[in-house]
Amino acid sequence: MSLTIPPTDLSAIQLFNKGTEIQTEAHASQEHLKVGTLRGGSSGALVNGEIYGKCTRASLARYLGYQEPKSPDSYNFFDAGYASEWTWEGKLKESWPGTILLEEEIPISWTVPGTDVKVTGRPDIVLCDRVPVDGYPDLTQPKPVLGIELKAILAINSSVGVALENKPKTDHVIQAAHYSWQLGIPWILAYSWNVKGPVPYWAKKRFDVNEITPGKREFKLGWEEGRLFYTDETGRRVDTVITATAIEDYYRLIVDMAENKTLYRDHGNRDVDGSVLPWAHDRYCKFCQIANKSRDYDEWLDNVILMSQGE
Ligand code: SF4
Repeated sequence: MSLTIPPTDLSAIQLFNKGTEIQTEAHASQEHLKVGTLRGGSSGALVNGEIYGKCTRASLARYLGYQEPKSPDSYNFFDAGYASEWTWEGKLKESWPGTILLEEEIPISWTVPGTDVKVTGRPDIVLCDRVPVDGYPDLTQPKPVLGIELKAILAINSSVGVALENKPKTDHVIQAAHYSWQLGIPWILAYSWNVKGPVPYWAKKRFDVNEITPGKREFKLGWEEGRLFYTDETGRRVDTVITATAIEDYYRLIVDMAENKTLYRDHGNRDVDGSVLPWAHDRYCKFCQIANKSRDYDEWLDNVILMSQGE
């Protein structure tokens, strides 16, 4: 039998890109509804005048409705993040005997004190026990017992900090702490990296390893007398300077910046233990591109608007 199957005229990549375009438009049509709302995904803390976590200007821009434009291929990073979340969800559904609530199934929402501005967030995963409903002993309902914030690392350089230094990123810790504070349960910050390859020279020298291979790392967050701490997988405890009030103060600062049309001097180059990080975040972040160069709100905003339009 001579088999004849002509190749298709269709393009898988064109279909993929069209799907991305449709998803992006659907997402964008919802984004304007969130203008004027602060996000749990842009968490930070203000301690003794210093910023921890997300740069205030990045959070302010998002609050005002401006974001970094994304090229079609930059969505690969987001897709990989979603894929990691689906993988975790699938595995945990097998192993957790109770209920698992995800994202919009268990949102957080609170109002910045003294304002009517809301802070909203969607925790990645919340594990729940089933407990009886008051007055209905035959019925049960989910009771949150543990939250998990998932982070997928997609670059060898970024994996070095978590995998070799055993250090979570400041904004990730504060985001997980934020949700933990709001839901009143412990939280785990869980990293997965699916990268393999040689590490940068400085890391090779410092950690005496040649390459990174795929792996996972978890950090367990708790609070003691109002202060956040975390432990790593070796049991090492790291006390932080983060409190719930510091997170609240950060969001209050963003509202003040918007209301008073002022910029804050600090971009957030600190570790949660209070130390200054060895690299300057604003040297790598190009979001508003003027970093320390501008203190003028209007000039900054003009630049951000251009930036968000991809110009
Ligand atoms: S470029 Fe600098 S000021 Fe702008 S968001 Fe990034 S770190 Fe902040």
